Amino acid sequence: RPTIAATRPLAAQVGGHAGIETSEDDSLLIKPALPREIEFYQRIAAAGDHEELLKLRNWTPKFLGVLKLEGQLKDLNAVGDGNMEIVPVHGNIVPEDKERLVLENVAYGFVKPCILDVKLGTVLYDQDAPPEKQARMIKVAHNTTSGETGVRFTGFQVYGNDSSEPILTPKSYGRSIKKEQLPDVIEMFFPVSSAPYPTPPNSTETSDSNVSKPQSGLPAILLHCVLTTLQADLEELKATIANIEMRMVGGSILIVYEGDWERAWKTLSMPSGTATSEEEEEDDDDEVEVEIDENGQIVLESIPDEAIEEEEEHQALLCSLSLIDFAHTRLIDGAGPDEGVLKGIQTMIDLLRQRKDKIAAML
Ligand code: ADP
Ligand code: MN
Repeated sequence: RPTIAATRPLAAQVGGHAGIETSEDDSLLIKPALPREIEFYQRIAAAGDHEELLKLRNWTPKFLGVLKLEGQLKDLNAVGDGNMEIVPVHGNIVPEDKERLVLENVAYGFVKPCILDVKLGTVLYDQDAPPEKQARMIKVAHNTTSGETGVRFTGFQVYGNDSSEPILTPKSYGRSIKKEQLPDVIEMFFPVSSAPYPTPPNSTETSDSNVSKPQSGLPAILLHCVLTTLQADLEELKATIANIEMRMVGGSILIVYEGDWERAWKTLSMPSGTATSEEEEEDDDDEVEVEIDENGQIVLESIPDEAIEEEEEHQALLCSLSLIDFAHTRLIDGAGPDEGVLKGIQTMIDLLRQRKDKIAAML
């Protein structure tokens, strides 16, 4: 029976509050969540024939269920004698009254995940926030790139190709910059390697011969692919959001791309769309019950077998784009789309296009 294996802190967390954990194999993410965020995931999971909300599901991490801890985690001392057991070693840092979301870790499967969290929107306060907070957040929007452009870079990590550790730029940086500097940040996050043109893995020359390894960044041609894909994704996301009546406050786009050359090349030579058949995708839509069983172990109740197999043959990706963090997102009938969020997505589209054009000139 599938379970959440031992949890540990999420290593590749570039923004937000501490306390996010992953399953032992890194594929699942366990996030302490406010009721509003849980409600949001449940709404889109149950979207049924609501066409636009269904489309939004293409852009949100897979939602596996909700962990209701009810204070029991503290008493759990389960020690695994097989890989299906659970050892919730860090569970005690989670407030007992907070439920936790079990989500897909969208950085799972990347060898060197370069990750950027972009806070979207021009309005940074919830409609129910006290007046003082609203006034404060209006100032924050005004004094950062949020107000004018609808984006603020929260935090990001990039890998040097010769290093096993990512280089993290904290959110204070994104908060301090002006609109004019946004392209510089994009350049920092999507650096072109200055190393000699790399040898694709399936070419006749051996790639691990004497090719000097770059400090950081992907070769221009790969980066161009990444940016082309992400730009198309953003266009599609924008079209989806334009048809959804919601207010998203403090939500983000999470961009991940493969910073490992060899893996990045390989993703291009692999056949696409091999991950799931349509039928299996339907199965994935089922919400999975997460429970604590008689022995005090956390159990995922109803993952279909196909999903487990799919996990094993997890498809390596060149990049991915997700919408995350719905702690203050509301679906409001009659409200129309969130213009500030749309503005932010357009800003990202423009920034990526600009970067892509610059890289195209190097090819
Ligand atoms: P908060 O409400 O604390 O801001 P977020 O949902 O924004 O929480 O998550 C904080 C950070 O955790 C993100 O910046 C990202 O690095 C990581 N993260 C969140 N959700 C995922 C996910 N589904 N897959 C991978 N990483 C994630
Ligand atoms: Mn966040």
